Amino acid sequence: MTEYKITWLEPTDREHQWLRRYTSSDKHKCATTGSFCNAMFDFGEADILYTTDGYIDGVREDRKPPDVDPRWPTACSACGRPFGAEDPFQLFSRQIYVCEATGARTTLEKAPVGSCWDAWWISERRKDGPTGSAWMVGPDHRSLTVKLPGNHDWLIDSRAKNCTMPEDNEHFCWVRHGRPEDGTLHVDKNGHTCAAGAGSIAVPGFHGFLHHGVLRDC
Ligand SMILES: [Zn+2]
Ligand SMILES: [Zn+2]
Ligand SMILES: [Zn+2]
Repeated sequence: MTEYKITWLEPTDREHQWLRRYTSSDKHKCATTGSFCNAMFDFGEADILYTTDGYIDGVREDRKPPDVDPRWPTACSACGRPFGAEDPFQLFSRQIYVCEATGARTTLEKAPVGSCWDAWWISERRKDGPTGSAWMVGPDHRSLTVKLPGNHDWLIDSRAKNCTMPEDNEHFCWVRHGRPEDGTLHVDKNGHTCAAGAGSIAVPGFHGFLHHGVLRDC
């Protein structure tokens, strides 16, 4: 049995950036990955730019170096195929989070199993509205997400694929109790819920429960 303690991640005002080249053509598939050809240069950290509304500013054309900058990758990191001039030059970025318990910094993509955060891009517009699986916000108006093995993200407050009450918006397919911040986060079927499952989460390669602040496979 494998156990993962739930640890809380707070968002920071910093982002990690990469200089990314890739092919977006549907005619070309990477000979190695079968997906896009892709390569990234680690460009370090920077302050996040926000719009006047408080959203992360997606306009970043003026934050990246010119196309001739030698730090842009020239070939796919998987198959070695050179990029063409027409392939995009993208400043790729991910918000940095900090683990409250250890001080460790991470992006959500690299967060260790058991990490928990509020998917604020879902919850921030729903602070005053209804709660339930249909709106993906829990009783505290947060949209809590837990990192599972295999780099799967579990949106606890979302609707389960096998929900038996798809017409009911207010119920929770997974009922959560406690708080991730103090190790008491607990998920079960004890509350206004449907008949789907027993409060466990199943993704490819993992099936388990989150009880009393610990994620456990079964
Ligand atoms: Zn490739
Ligand atoms: Zn349900
Ligand atoms: Zn099981």
